[in-house]
Amino acid sequence: MPALSYVHQLFSADTCQTYLRALRWKERPLQCPRCQRHAVGLWGTYHYRPGLKRYWCHGCRRTFNDLTNTMLAQSKRSLPHWILATFLLCLSCSSRRIARELGVHIRTSYRWCWWLRNAAVSYETDRHVEGTVEADELYHTAGRKGQAPHGGKKSLGRRPRGRRKKREPGRGHYDKDRPAIIAWVSRQGAVVIQGVRDFTVKTVQKAANLAVQAGSRLYTDSASSYRALQGYLHEYVNHTQKEYARGDVHENRAECLFSLLKPYLRVFVASAKRTCLGI
Ligand SMILES: [Zn+2]
Repeated sequence: MPALSYVHQLFSADTCQTYLRALRWKERPLQCPRCQRHAVGLWGTYHYRPGLKRYWCHGCRRTFNDLTNTMLAQSKRSLPHWILATFLLCLSCSSRRIARELGVHIRTSYRWCWWLRNAAVSYETDRHVEGTVEADELYHTAGRKGQAPHGGKKSLGRRPRGRRKKREPGRGHYDKDRPAIIAWVSRQGAVVIQGVRDFTVKTVQKAANLAVQAGSRLYTDSASSYRALQGYLHEYVNHTQKEYARGDVHENRAECLFSLLKPYLRVFVASAKRTCLGI
């Protein structure tokens, strides 16, 4: 039996509900998610959902619980299922693996993975990093996974070969099926990762304008697209001359981020390049 299955036993419905309650309300007082009033009281529990508390709002005279207005509100699966799915997704498990561990259908786990990722991204779609920002890029193999040339369902007419796409030498771009991924890592902690079609000056400038506050201090490697950037206090280290740090100037945080991102992406044998931004 896979080792991860044992983790399942650590989650009981009550533990998960308590955890979620703490996550949702933190130190704030309870608030009705419909009318935003604080005049609420307890209203029993659900016999079919152990641990989930129900509240009564004196304002709109309706009940709500810890899951109201969240993605999990209408789910027929229990909360431990969802928490374990999120946990496994963060460990870079594929949706097939998650389906196996949870005992749900593969389509269910695939849908859940999309919902969870979208929920994570939707919190801050227009995040700007500022202060001292490091930037680096990587090229990730991505193809027309699961896509017919003119839309619709792809018919291969044979079993898929299940081989990775072969790499071509040189810098990648969208048409070579190797779009770039740029990471902007603020030294204050925030990170923005963008998928872009290529790595030209125009594209990088556009990506920087979207992700980095103008006037920020920018540390990168010596790629010419970064050197042409305008609107930032830019300094770079020259990797070809074996220079990786010059005092405060380095991009080790960005490199570190990629060293974690690469094994995460490797699990998903192929990526769909339609997920790239249109930059
Ligand atoms: Zn209310």
